[in-house]
Amino acid sequence: MELQILQVPPLGTNCYFIVDSGKVGIVDPGGSGDSIIRFIEDKSWHPESVLLTHGHFDHAGAAGQLKEYFGIPICIHRLDAPMLENAKASHAERFGFPYSGCTADRLLEENDTFSVGDTVFSVLHTPGHTKGSSCFLSGDTMLSGDTLFFRSIGRFERRDKETMKKSIKRLLSMDEGVRVYPGHERDTTIGAEKKFNPFANFDWEWE
Ligand SMILES: [Zn+2]
Repeated sequence: MELQILQVPPLGTNCYFIVDSGKVGIVDPGGSGDSIIRFIEDKSWHPESVLLTHGHFDHAGAAGQLKEYFGIPICIHRLDAPMLENAKASHAERFGFPYSGCTADRLLEENDTFSVGDTVFSVLHTPGHTKGSSCFLSGDTMLSGDTLFFRSIGRFERRDKETMKKSIKRLLSMDEGVRVYPGHERDTTIGAEKKFNPFANFDWEWE
């Protein structure tokens, strides 16, 4: 399995391509359907699914276009599926971006698995940034969406602080060698984040 990254508008989201034997899983395509289609066709890849770590428009914007163009399913945690429906739910309206909406085809749950070629990923439900935020793990490779970042964590509402803490604790208790590929900015490891992430001491009294 190989991971390729394309940074996509409108907010510099990392769109990941999980590539295995020419089969491809598109993770968090952001709002850039046309350039993703070109990128995939240039490489003669065969996309199998659109996988979303959560329902925000800057991750899910192009999901509907890719679903239609390639005839592939959109997979997202059950609790975030309603966010895909319109501009308001996906927060596109709040940021003034266009968003046309789409529907999920497969609703993911904790412990579910999905495959791309011969590679199997499992779903970790890590709520806090959104209700259905999930990380995707295969061996020592994890896609962390907007939950865990290089030296930071995703934004969350005050009421979700304890939920977010629990999710971050869970991730930081994983094997230190796990390589983390977040929804924005650069990749890191669980070991490095345990050591250097300012949120790893769980003294979150700055609000
Ligand atoms: Zn987000």
